[in-house]
Amino acid sequence: MSLIVMKFGGTSLADLERIRHAARHVKREVDAGHQVAVIVSAMAGTTNQLVKWCEEASALHDAREYDAVVSTGEQVSAGLMAIVLQDMGISARSFTGWQVPVRTSDVHGAARIQSIESDDLRSRLSEGQVCVITGFQGISSLNRITTLGRGGSDTSAVAVAAALGADRCDIYTDVDGVYTTDPRIAPRAQRLSRISFEEMLEMASLGAKVLQTRSVELAMAKGVRLVVRSSFDDPDAPQVAPDGSNSGVPGTLVCDEDEIVEQQIVSGVTLAKSEAKITIRSVKDRPGVAAAVFGALADEQIVVDMIVQNVSDDGRQTDITFTVPDAEYDRAMNAITSDRERFEYDTITGAKGGAKISVIGVGMRSHAGVAASMFRALSEKGINIQLITTSEIKTSVLIAEEYAELAVRALHTYYGLDREEEG
Ligand code: ASP
Ligand code: MG
Repeated sequence: MSLIVMKFGGTSLADLERIRHAARHVKREVDAGHQVAVIVSAMAGTTNQLVKWCEEASALHDAREYDAVVSTGEQVSAGLMAIVLQDMGISARSFTGWQVPVRTSDVHGAARIQSIESDDLRSRLSEGQVCVITGFQGISSLNRITTLGRGGSDTSAVAVAAALGADRCDIYTDVDGVYTTDPRIAPRAQRLSRISFEEMLEMASLGAKVLQTRSVELAMAKGVRLVVRSSFDDPDAPQVAPDGSNSGVPGTLVCDEDEIVEQQIVSGVTLAKSEAKITIRSVKDRPGVAAAVFGALADEQIVVDMIVQNVSDDGRQTDITFTVPDAEYDRAMNAITSDRERFEYDTITGAKGGAKISVIGVGMRSHAGVAASMFRALSEKGINIQLITTSEIKTSVLIAEEYAELAVRALHTYYGLDREEEG
């Protein structure tokens, strides 16, 4: 017998029929003798509508009331899930965030979970009751309802799984797992049977939008084994991986690196479009210059992504290049040029429309030459590299947006990630 946390996203709960379908997944686990806590998102589209109403009610609305409004979507789906489960003969009840309670910081709209009281949940679970808990929300020290930020119910699920010491946290969504790259770009992308937390973190933050980044950070910190799987699967199908792999579940297991026996050097290729590049030439090469430049951007709340600083021959001047989202380009340019005296540079140039391509894999730690082979693969396609950054398990390049898809496909093939053609 295991304790399993099952989280269902908005598309998996879009209408009553889907909620019933999701409930059949819950029933399967209950029938197998497991203890089950369910975390629900709001029904698809609901949260967007609630956010819109707040904005229309007042542009400068009270953030505490925003949370009171946008948290309601989850209460509806939790109640409906409990009703549907009861209808199937399963003992179930709903909990909102404050009823558990899930205690959070008081940063409304972006609260962080601080603790979860699990005694009551635990005793109900051990009596065979399914606890259906609203994701995305909690309660502050001032007894106000808080929300965790968009996509936050993934984080709720992981936090509940950690608090209960669950054996697994299954994230049911509209895709059947984590892929080596976006299948819409590279049709021969493959579902990964396993991926390490660290790789998943890179994938999540680089735009593979399956899991909220914070939920992966939390899972890694607390050692919660996550499974990304499709809620649209037949609930009564055998619970094995479709490719017969050893993950033991039909989906992608996100787990500790040690649990992955046959490590690929590269596990995935990601793409982030609409990156603008800005280069500041001949700034003074002395302490505090980078701090001043990036401080000015931070003051404007502009998130900088890639950063490269050159070393100049004379040691007196240097060039700094960095990227920001296209949408922030004008503001970023303005933040630097409006205070030209302060930064003492020669020229500043920039352009929108870059694409960041990254190859990710924990195997890079122990294998030489991954960056070199990436550059070779791109050069073979005649793609120019504008900027390079690396971390321990990732190499990223900035290229012109028009070559983005070509680059992803080329690298995917180059690293042997293509699915074998059937036939
Ligand atoms: N319903 C919330 C949202 O749409 C939370 C979630 O779905 O994870 O952002
Ligand atoms: Mg989501």
